[in-house]
Amino acid sequence: SLRMPGKNEKKNKNYESDLEEEAQTRAKKSIEETRKSLPIYAYRQDLLDAISQHQVIIIEGETGSGKTTQITQYLCEDGYTKINGEKKKIGCTQPRRVAAMSVAARVAQEMGVKLGTDVGYSIRFEDCTSDRTVIKYMTDGMLLREFLNEPDLESYSVLIIDEAHERTLHTDILFGLVKDIARFRSDLKLLISSATMDCEKFSDFFDGAPIFRIPGRRFPVDIFYTKQPEADYLQAVVVTVFQIHISQPLGDILVFLTGQEEIEACSEMITEKSRKLGKKIKELIVLPIYSNLPSDMQIKIFEPTPLNARKVILATNIAETSLTIDGIIYVIDPGFCKQKTYNARTGMESLIVTPISKASANQRAGRAGRVSPGKCFRLYTVSAYEKELDDNSIPEIQRTNLGNVVLLLKSLGINDLVHFDYIDPPPHETLIMALEQLYALGALNHKAELTKLGRRMAEFPVDPMLSKTLIASEKYKCSEEILTICSMLSVNNAIFYRPKDKIIHADAARQNFYNPAGDHITLLNIYKQWEDTSFSTQWCFENFIQHRSMKRARDVRDQLASLMERVEIDLVSCVDDSVAIRKAITAGFFYHSAKLSKTGSYKTTKHQQTVHIHPNSCLFESLPRWVVYYELVFTSKEYMRQIIEIENDWLVEVAPHYYNAKNLQDNSNQKMPKNTGKTSDQVTRKYPALN
Ligand code: ADP
Ligand code: MG
Repeated sequence: SLRMPGKNEKKNKNYESDLEEEAQTRAKKSIEETRKSLPIYAYRQDLLDAISQHQVIIIEGETGSGKTTQITQYLCEDGYTKINGEKKKIGCTQPRRVAAMSVAARVAQEMGVKLGTDVGYSIRFEDCTSDRTVIKYMTDGMLLREFLNEPDLESYSVLIIDEAHERTLHTDILFGLVKDIARFRSDLKLLISSATMDCEKFSDFFDGAPIFRIPGRRFPVDIFYTKQPEADYLQAVVVTVFQIHISQPLGDILVFLTGQEEIEACSEMITEKSRKLGKKIKELIVLPIYSNLPSDMQIKIFEPTPLNARKVILATNIAETSLTIDGIIYVIDPGFCKQKTYNARTGMESLIVTPISKASANQRAGRAGRVSPGKCFRLYTVSAYEKELDDNSIPEIQRTNLGNVVLLLKSLGINDLVHFDYIDPPPHETLIMALEQLYALGALNHKAELTKLGRRMAEFPVDPMLSKTLIASEKYKCSEEILTICSMLSVNNAIFYRPKDKIIHADAARQNFYNPAGDHITLLNIYKQWEDTSFSTQWCFENFIQHRSMKRARDVRDQLASLMERVEIDLVSCVDDSVAIRKAITAGFFYHSAKLSKTGSYKTTKHQQTVHIHPNSCLFESLPRWVVYYELVFTSKEYMRQIIEIENDWLVEVAPHYYNAKNLQDNSNQKMPKNTGKTSDQVTRKYPALN
């Protein structure tokens, strides 16, 4: 029946808003009850007393006890956001962007305010705060950058360095910086908060700061191992999920995987199998969570599981300690995570799937015992656990390229990087390599002092090679194109959609964008065509492009564009001058150059390391003689991902102080055609693409 508009309508509205208000009061009440039920609540006053008595405190508590979401609120309630009539902020860092967004959203909800007002978050390329913001969650990297604009962090009354046990590079550097400012800012409170690991070490570093322990609630978790090692752990995950689903009482499952691609593959496998089984089984709700997941999808993992159904959450390491999902009773742990590794001798950094540490394995198992006794299925043998896993993970500072951080510290006027106050020092050769790379890029002079170029580069929250590329685009008059390419690279692995049942169509669609000059130009093509359709969703759909990723690229592009304005680079287009674009890229990435070798693989120019073109590259079959790559990933072998073809003499043009023309010439078929007698076409035929 039709509802008639008119008087009744208005009445209804009032009635509805009454109901809504009531619902809100009820929700608020239950929020209050939930807050009071968290383990940390019993220690609220003790904690506040301890904070008022000490400048620095280490807080240790089981994951899910309420550290991240409650401490900021307690401090706010206790007056730390207004000191002597002046507004002050409470800052809380998170190693992961998803965690920063998600906890900020939760705290805003608990406080009954709109996210971005009193409670906000700041992550790279996205600032969701305002002048009103007093509780600010942010990634550790963002707080690091705040030192550039506000060296003493005067606007903060409290800094919480959360998830300290993760020991990310940025958190480690923050330790040194905040310890330093706490010395001359006696009004600043410093809280270092961590899961149950490593706390004595933090206390030692902060001159014997007291440790405040929050006893956790933890139910027993039964741990099961496989009898034999699993050859294919994704397959094993799927089997285990269904074994649990069919034989175990209801309760949600948390699976730890290494990254987005794996999560998507696994999600498809489970969904497909579940569809096949149809009504024979109860409903399975498969939910992914990883760092690039859009926020509307993130919210879903926190929604209560419907009656008679089971959630399966496929997560990266993020669910190990950063995010607590209620209702998990089963954990499946294949025992791997994706880690950056760095070879300081060759300067090569790559992402590798590596076995986790015992500490990680135990944290993962612990996720099953928060609400009731749980079960953890380790997809490895008990002897692998005992003999092959290290006790603790190696801190990131000891296995990563330091270029970015060194540039930032130099910009903060910290010149002596060897004697910086590290909780664990980086390897000496890694520091030297970072200085050398920054020198080669022109960011430092021969006395290792910051140059004008280096100062401009430090404005960009990206890798020095990318910031150099952005700045070089001025010289080559292609800043519009480079801006697009850099933005697309930032979402790089999430652009193409490749559903299992349409792989042929998806790959054909992707190949339509291919450009013989390389993958960067391919990315540029995609963005430009999307722009030509006025950013159409339909166009993305038809071309197997992920619309969300494109939108994100557009946001990143806007942010980078305003930074370009800050360093006074005009946006100009070179209108498809692929050489100009590739020269600008080479100006930033000449370190990542490689040359085709006889076997069809490549050798990096400086260190003669063997690398290969990634099968997803548009240059996979053409095998150009010289290439510059964006990054290396190691799976079965060392792959270069995102590649352009270059000419060897560009290397000398863009980095004359780094490349010796003579060296490059000796190997060049261009300059000495008679020596090799082959065009690059013939090379292609002789050394067909490897599979
Ligand atoms: P800790 O930092 O000690 O690990 P948290 O403060 O993150 O603990 O979590 C406390 C509680 O808040 C947990 O029960 C968790 O499930 C809940 N929580 C955290 N974030 C959200 C969210 N975005 N939505 C719903 N509940 C959340
Ligand atoms: Mg936390």
